[in-house]
Amino acid sequence: MLKRVLVANRGEIAVRIIRACREMNIETVAVYSEADRGALFTTLATRAVCIGPARAEESYLNADAILTSALAAKCDGIHPGFGFLSENAAFAAAARERGLAFVGPPPEVITALGDKSAARRLMRKAGVPIVPGSDGIAETAEDARREAAELGYPVLVKASAGGGGRGIRRADSERGIETAFGEASGEALACFGDGGVYIEKLIENPRHIEFQILADSFGNIIHLGERDCTLQRRNQKVLEEAPSPSLGKDMRFELGEAAVRAARASGYVNAGTAEFILDGEGNYYFIEMNTRIQVEHPVTEMITGVDIVREQLHIASGLPLRCTQEDIKFSGHAIECRVNAESPEDGFLPCPGRIGFLHLPGGFGVRVDSAAYPGCEVTPYYDSMLAKVIVHGKTRNEAILRMRRALEELLITGVKTNLGLLYMLMFSTDYLAGKTDTGFIERNLDAILRPVEKDMML
Ligand code: ADP
Repeated sequence: MLKRVLVANRGEIAVRIIRACREMNIETVAVYSEADRGALFTTLATRAVCIGPARAEESYLNADAILTSALAAKCDGIHPGFGFLSENAAFAAAARERGLAFVGPPPEVITALGDKSAARRLMRKAGVPIVPGSDGIAETAEDARREAAELGYPVLVKASAGGGGRGIRRADSERGIETAFGEASGEALACFGDGGVYIEKLIENPRHIEFQILADSFGNIIHLGERDCTLQRRNQKVLEEAPSPSLGKDMRFELGEAAVRAARASGYVNAGTAEFILDGEGNYYFIEMNTRIQVEHPVTEMITGVDIVREQLHIASGLPLRCTQEDIKFSGHAIECRVNAESPEDGFLPCPGRIGFLHLPGGFGVRVDSAAYPGCEVTPYYDSMLAKVIVHGKTRNEAILRMRRALEELLITGVKTNLGLLYMLMFSTDYLAGKTDTGFIERNLDAILRPVEKDMML
């Protein structure tokens, strides 16, 4: 088992990883930027090292500084969390070369799956349904136009190296394809240093369903069921739940099998997520594999009882999975709300500042993953997530009622938050009926933010 792990991240996910390590008697080394001096994760870790200025490029993305710190502190592993260097194959390779266990898949797998266009080919060969679209990179606007004409509009032009919803543009007709091609490849080049794009049929009003995978280095692969992440804003997830209110038994089984096939085809090791979109006619399509722990992993933990970070560390220690697919039992329903320091009324503008009073919810069936504390600074340098409020109930309705009361208990002063939006979502008749799609929040923002009589539903 690993003995000392460097946590190459910050905020709540750093806290989450440190907690798992402490329960496993693994020492932790936190690395932090000057902006995170005094942050909760630096005090929970066994020790903490400052690696650079606030700007992520000079600290949390500074691979050399992180690897040097790991070696100097005699670590035997690195957990990258999510974001930052978590899906950076060169970083994973550099860690391996220095004898450090990278808590994630091997660099070759990160590379193969990070190239989405290549990943599509891999999945097609493995019999995993993919969104109809181009077979490789569309080199020119003319290529894009030809492929889009074959597929039929509307289409998406997507960055092959993409992530976080960037480098994606929609074209509704031939007139828009050149602009979409230019913008998507320009953004891809700027964000990822790789302007390669491919064309995909736009699936209208889809639902986003993803499967959590665990794979060890002995070829054992299981899934921990699905998460429904349909509620998004600009391709960014807002609320996640498990199980999905829109999957029947047969479809769930089929998607689970496809997710495991996707992992097997890529030689997957460690925790990963196979993402799919579903259309209104019962078709599902693989869109990508995320090669890291995800923000929304707690909803899966709540309904399976499996500590996913613990399993990650276990697998990275070279040990076999401790359970089979048959051992995984699902119980009840879990929902996660992402509380961000942002203002929905002002176009979701991030709202950094100093937190004044803070009261986090608790009680039966409530879990809060957060690095916030009264008086802490929410800096403008990193993402604006303050807390994840996760609830578990026997049924979906019970979970919704519990989320309402948990959000009612949550008090934060000093920064604006999206708490009101999250709370109102818990009263939306369409959400209650499970009738949403990925465009739901954007189409209904005004209606969701308008107060309703609390005792109207359920
Ligand atoms: P990223 O890696 O940038 O997150 P994804 O390929 O995962 O990009 O897509 C992000 C989101 O965009 C998905 O969750 C979904 O809401 C939407 N999306 C992606 N592909 C399609 C498609 N072909 N049709 C409709 N929506 C899509």
